[in-house]
Amino acid sequence: MLLLPLCQSACDSQPATESSFLAQRKRMVEEQLAAPGRGIQNPGVLDAMATVPRHEFVPKALQNAAYWDEPLPIGYGQTISQPFIVAFMTEKLDPKTTDRVLEIGTGSGYQAAVLSRLVAEVYTIEIVEPLAKRAEADLKRLGYNNAKVLAGDGYKGWPDHAPFDAIIVTCAPDHVPQPLIEQLRDGGRMIIPVGPPGNQQLYLLQKHGTKAEQQAILPVRFVPMKRAQE
Ligand code: SAH
Repeated sequence: MLLLPLCQSACDSQPATESSFLAQRKRMVEEQLAAPGRGIQNPGVLDAMATVPRHEFVPKALQNAAYWDEPLPIGYGQTISQPFIVAFMTEKLDPKTTDRVLEIGTGSGYQAAVLSRLVAEVYTIEIVEPLAKRAEADLKRLGYNNAKVLAGDGYKGWPDHAPFDAIIVTCAPDHVPQPLIEQLRDGGRMIIPVGPPGNQQLYLLQKHGTKAEQQAILPVRFVPMKRAQE
């Protein structure tokens, strides 16, 4: 359903050049992210969004739609998030250059690429194996060498590399997974959508000792978190 209207305007047109992608990306940052109604202010986040080639992370047939103010299908029933949501979540995570960050829901690898420009190391987990393989290849091809991809169930986190300074979850579970809280360092931040389709909230959580303090910050729509068969 989503592909048809997109294709009518995105697929038929001439293939764009690198310089037109650059111009589209600049406009995306100005109009969708930094504009007063949108309010993304972190200069590092705006710079990363202006630099990472989003068109390299979407299917070829949709490259001309890569800088639209929308999520896009990436195959296997999954989507790459709307640019604003990527920027918003990245800003809320308050990334530091020394941070080690865990992402659950690699998808296209785009969010991981944005983060990898802002932090020391990104670990990202994807449950759909062909998506994990493709994202790993794309991240490597584009030189994002500080992002490591694992194919598996992100509910369990990645204990070998814990604790993490920050965790970003880009699929929606019905509760905050306990293993992720455990793998967050004391004082660490997590951003995570929680709830059933149609009624999800994005939560910002901060860990203090054994407690986690959380606040709802935005109603959102993410694909549900799947669970691997035990
Ligand atoms: N961050 C992505 C978009 C994510 S879409 C990007 O930048 O493109 C959400 C992704 O979460 C999907 O690819 C889906 O397959 C994945 N997912 C769902 N449940 C998961 C789980 N338990 N562990 C890891 N990934 C999961």
